[in-house]
Amino acid sequence: MSYGFDTLQIHAGARPDPATGARQTPIYQTTAYVFRDADHAAALFNLQEVGNIYSRLTNPTVSVLAERIATLEGGVGAVCCSSGHAAQILALFPLMGPGRNVVASTRLYGGTVTQFSQTIKRFGWSAKFVDFDDLDAVKAAIDDDTRAVFCESIANPGGYITDLDAVAAVADEAGLPMIVDNTSATPYLCRPIEHGATLVVHSATKYLTGNGTVTGGVVVDSGRFDWSASDKFPSLSAPEPAYHGLKFHETFGPLAYTFHGIAIGLRDLGMTMNPQGAHYTLMGIETLSLRMARHVENAVKLATWLENDPRVSTVTYAGLPSSPYHDRVARICPKGAGGLFTFGVKGGYEACIKLVDSLEIFSHVANLGDTRSLIIHPASTTHRQLTEEQQRAASAGPEVVRVSIGIEDADDLIADLDQALAKATA
Ligand SMILES: *Cc1c(COP(=O)(O)O)cnc(C)c1O
Repeated sequence: MSYGFDTLQIHAGARPDPATGARQTPIYQTTAYVFRDADHAAALFNLQEVGNIYSRLTNPTVSVLAERIATLEGGVGAVCCSSGHAAQILALFPLMGPGRNVVASTRLYGGTVTQFSQTIKRFGWSAKFVDFDDLDAVKAAIDDDTRAVFCESIANPGGYITDLDAVAAVADEAGLPMIVDNTSATPYLCRPIEHGATLVVHSATKYLTGNGTVTGGVVVDSGRFDWSASDKFPSLSAPEPAYHGLKFHETFGPLAYTFHGIAIGLRDLGMTMNPQGAHYTLMGIETLSLRMARHVENAVKLATWLENDPRVSTVTYAGLPSSPYHDRVARICPKGAGGLFTFGVKGGYEACIKLVDSLEIFSHVANLGDTRSLIIHPASTTHRQLTEEQQRAASAGPEVVRVSIGIEDADDLIADLDQALAKATA
């Protein structure tokens, strides 16, 4: 029996608690789990039997969340971790090594650009950034040391949608996994595995939890990649010295990557999700489809209103027919282009500052994907260290603000923007 999305977002991975009958998934607030006897302990440590040992590796509450997200994404397994940025490191970790690189889209969340262009160099890894609309450039960037291709489905801050099928074809031809950050879309709007993604990463901090209460991340495995087809992924295909010579792919088949993520990734990097965090994200996911539908509905209303306002210079939202990426919506994210976009305010930097300070419902914060409407002026905050030229290249010029449209009454949000624009451009 195959259930629909709205049923799975409530039930996948969960069952009444076997110990107490509790209907809701309990928060298993424990560090360790008692072994039945010494043989049981040995079998668990040898990965011959699946079970809980220590909560840095697995925890029953966190496991329900992992199974739920894997199911919603159409993957075979998932590993939860402490943040979206942790998920990116955890996703790359089994694939990369010193001297290896990832070919990444130029249109990525700003924090990911910093992580990939600066911090991963400490591990001897590197990233090559290319325009993913230029497939020849993606092909040309791939070399013998490339181990993954990385992009976002609906790119944060919005306005851009990646042609996932086309990029997947390039990755396939090169024998490489495609990793898709699906944070802005969520599996309700886009299911990257159906478009050829090998792995899907999430910041659960955003729409999955949905109310700005926790930081969390997830790596989902499609189970479809043949890690043994080449000698490029020895940590999965060859004896792994960090796990007494275990061959993950041979032993676990399509679950190799997921087991590796727990047995080596979480064990040695320690970027574990805590059971309280998993609980909040499970509560959020129960209403994911309802919230996303409203985020999209409100975003379309507000983007349309802003586009017709003479005080506004530009609106970049793929949900608008005027967007150059509008024709990708029906194919990549048929239920809508998400709740994030940017717009330009006539009057530039000073007008944007006034706008942000004059809003009453919108909150001025660095987060996104909350039930509340949020706004940020990148040029005076997240992108203030950059030159104006760099800001413009990142679609974060001085006249641009980014909004994350919440699920309040659209009319109230429009009235709030109207009064704040009046003050900003007076
Ligand atoms: C927020 C975000 C991240 C990072 O997630 P954290 O949970 O803040 O670490 C990565 N990718 C995208 C698209 C994001 O919006």
